[in-house]
Amino acid sequence: MTSSLPPIPNAPPERPRVAVIGAGPSGLYAAAALLASDVTPVDVDVLDRLPAPYGLVRYGVAPDHVKMKSVIRVLQRPFADGSRVRFLGNVAVGENGIPLDVLREHYHAVVHATGSSLDRDLGIPGEELAGSHGSGAFVSWYCGHPDATVLEPLLDSPGVVVVGAGNVALDIARVLARAPAEMATTDVPEHVLATLRRSAVRDVHVVVRRGPQHVRFTPAELRQIGELDDVDVLVHDDGLLAAGVEEPEDRRQKQNLEMLTAWAGNEPGTASRRIHLHFLRSPVRLEGAGGRVEHVVLERNEVRDGKVLGTGEQETVDAGLVVRAIGYSGEPIPGLPFDQENGVVPNDGGRVVRDGVPVPGSYVTGWIKRGPTGVIGTNKHDALETVEKLLEDLAELPEARYPDRDAIFERFAEYGVEPVTWDDWLNLDAEEIRLGEVRGGAERVKVAGLDAMLDACRSAAVR
Ligand code: NAP
Repeated sequence: MTSSLPPIPNAPPERPRVAVIGAGPSGLYAAAALLASDVTPVDVDVLDRLPAPYGLVRYGVAPDHVKMKSVIRVLQRPFADGSRVRFLGNVAVGENGIPLDVLREHYHAVVHATGSSLDRDLGIPGEELAGSHGSGAFVSWYCGHPDATVLEPLLDSPGVVVVGAGNVALDIARVLARAPAEMATTDVPEHVLATLRRSAVRDVHVVVRRGPQHVRFTPAELRQIGELDDVDVLVHDDGLLAAGVEEPEDRRQKQNLEMLTAWAGNEPGTASRRIHLHFLRSPVRLEGAGGRVEHVVLERNEVRDGKVLGTGEQETVDAGLVVRAIGYSGEPIPGLPFDQENGVVPNDGGRVVRDGVPVPGSYVTGWIKRGPTGVIGTNKHDALETVEKLLEDLAELPEARYPDRDAIFERFAEYGVEPVTWDDWLNLDAEEIRLGEVRGGAERVKVAGLDAMLDACRSAAVR
């Protein structure tokens, strides 16, 4: 499709305009930093392909981490005055929405904050079997992401394997082991709660390729699995911890090691569910009849000079569900350079660079900038760095073609994009809070399907 609006040469806009693509924590911290700029006031539009803001806080933070979600009180602040920073949800940028180069005609700068949405693969036989999922897909399911409503995970077997030693692996293990009555007090959508209530899962096996001194869990998250009601934590370390392992220098790894050492003495008890932590093991094959995963073949490892090496010794774990929580990768953004190996857009402190040269008016922040690491707060410093660079560049930014800020709405119409505003989102927000009251004991219950979300956005009845 080509542009239908005439160019308006040399008409200076009132204020520089910035589009932030992605209303997750990194995008919203960037919007807040832009709003706070006392160099030159800028207008900001925050675009998101979903009708709801908050990205990973809404669709990545585990439902039972209710306190962690309270960060939305901070993230929503830029929208308070309703004019300088606008939310434009339900706006896809790219192939299925408004093309990036069309957007560029309306904004002096674009900050990409689209995260790392792709699951990494293990690259082992059987990964394609039913019951085998990436953590992104699985987390999207229990968080009620509209893209995931068709995924109905098979929780009909007692065994589950979760691969990985990061916080996402712990989130998944905890959600699967926690009593459904406790999950009912979270924001999980009704269809997710119904599946968890029917769950036959009893043994969640977390498979870690290195030793207990090298896990990437944060101690607070590891401690939580030990505090779950009616769940035993069992450590499978071949006696390594009892024999004593080299003490790590990192404070967090030291704390983890203390906890794991204490748990290494746990004997199987009478709890309804168990979380097993298996160390120095890697899955080498998923097996099952009829296209469905039934067993995971693990190989024992040893670590030499930091490298994980298989010993050839194998064992089998029964599992009807396998989730690989081994990290994410960013998705290439058409029109921007991409570093395939690291899954990020090449950048210098947030300025997008192609062959070492900055791409005028293009910036990145969050996971698409630095890779999928860090906690939510990490994105604040990251966004500040990007915004500092953008403000330094203000005088040299490419001119936007249209001086009228609202001309973008005509382009949305041209491309069949129907944005939802902050007020529309507040209708959906109110509906979710109402559903929480209906369930009882939950702050909110998520509306999961895209059509249902849009319907709630456009119905003012509940506010
Ligand atoms: P992560 O912390 O990078 O952990 C990924 C894990 O996958 C690592 O233990 C890694 O092992 C393992 N791995 C990678 N490739 C593997 C393979 N081929 N076979 C077996 N294991 C493999 O990533 P994440 O858990 O996805 O979390 C992403 C970020 O979000 C992290 O910074 C995390 O702390 C954060 N997060 C925080 C919270 C929270 O604060 N509650 C919750 C969720 C996520 P090696 O160590 O051996 O490489």
